[in-house]
Amino acid sequence: MLATRLFKVGDIRTVEVAEPVPGPGDIVVKVEAAGICGTDRHLFKGEFPSVAGTTLGHEFCGIVVDAGASELAVGTRVTCDPNTWCGACYQCQRGRVNLCTNNIATGIGRDGGFAEYCAFPAHKAHVLPLDLDPLFGAFCEPLACTLHGMDIGAAKSGERVLVIGGGVIGLLAVQLAKLAGCEVMLLTRSASKQQLGRALGADLVAATEPEALEQWPEGADLVVECAGVSATVAMSPRLTRSGGRIMVLGVLADGVKVSIEPFDLLFREIQMHFSFLNPFTHARASRMIAEGVIDVSALITRRISLQEASDVIANAAPEGEVRAIVVPG
Ligand code: NAP
Repeated sequence: MLATRLFKVGDIRTVEVAEPVPGPGDIVVKVEAAGICGTDRHLFKGEFPSVAGTTLGHEFCGIVVDAGASELAVGTRVTCDPNTWCGACYQCQRGRVNLCTNNIATGIGRDGGFAEYCAFPAHKAHVLPLDLDPLFGAFCEPLACTLHGMDIGAAKSGERVLVIGGGVIGLLAVQLAKLAGCEVMLLTRSASKQQLGRALGADLVAATEPEALEQWPEGADLVVECAGVSATVAMSPRLTRSGGRIMVLGVLADGVKVSIEPFDLLFREIQMHFSFLNPFTHARASRMIAEGVIDVSALITRRISLQEASDVIANAAPEGEVRAIVVPG
């Protein structure tokens, strides 16, 4: 079968490989759709650790073709929660499973969904309805991560929420903030992403920090950083109202430093939080996608083949692109 593998930093290729052999507790799915995420590009550039030679793809769904010892029926559509925590370490035992140092992420630490078939632990499968557009199943994982961030950010009805970054994570955060009853502004540079943000519920849009401050001079109660660049992390405190919160979801490369002013954070008592992965949120995300509570169809820019995937990951997303989805086979 074909699989898109990251052989080493900067070397990604779609190659012919053997079909996966399920380990104990695994199922095998025929992959229907797998999203290319900002994190795949971080992995390609070595800005996020991965295991050399791994098939990437951690946002995917597929049809069960081998149910192993599980109770899943062959033919069931499932989405994969890629993070397999050990359950035994200190962090797992206290419920902080996303901090498990033994976590093996499908598509990062073991072969993932940019392939015709993928094996992963059965207990990480969440059932999706067969009448759902399979492309929508590729959004369960990013929604689960965004849910974790929004849970920590705890936006309350009537609050002002500023989302920075109009990629998938940002556009999901916009929708979750609207569902929570907030007034929402999206700050992103691209005019087409601003337009999309408005269509998905953003009340206001801005391209720059001054444009945002012109509309909300006091700042937002909650700033959700979803761009993953130094400039947007650095501007987040300046866009936060006194007594407000910042939630950083964006991933900056290991070692990157950002200048912030602790005096300002202290004097205005701004809470700065970080959100990592999807602890206990994948089931909620799958349900929301299955029930159509979140609009993901608008986030699909194009479908691509496995053969195209390596080039797409190795290059920056073209202007205006939100999500390219790999459809194998
Ligand atoms: P993405 O598609 O690259 O979206 C990021 C967006 O940020 C871009 O669309 C870009 O849009 C905007 N942006 C970039 N520089 C900007 C600037 N200076 N000012 C304003 N907007 C700017 O990535 P994604 O898939 O949505 O993911 C977003 C981030 O979250 C990534 O860093 C990803 O690795 C991370 N992530 C984190 C988690 C977690 O668990 N914490 C999970 C998944 C993803 P414009 O061109 O319109 O500005």
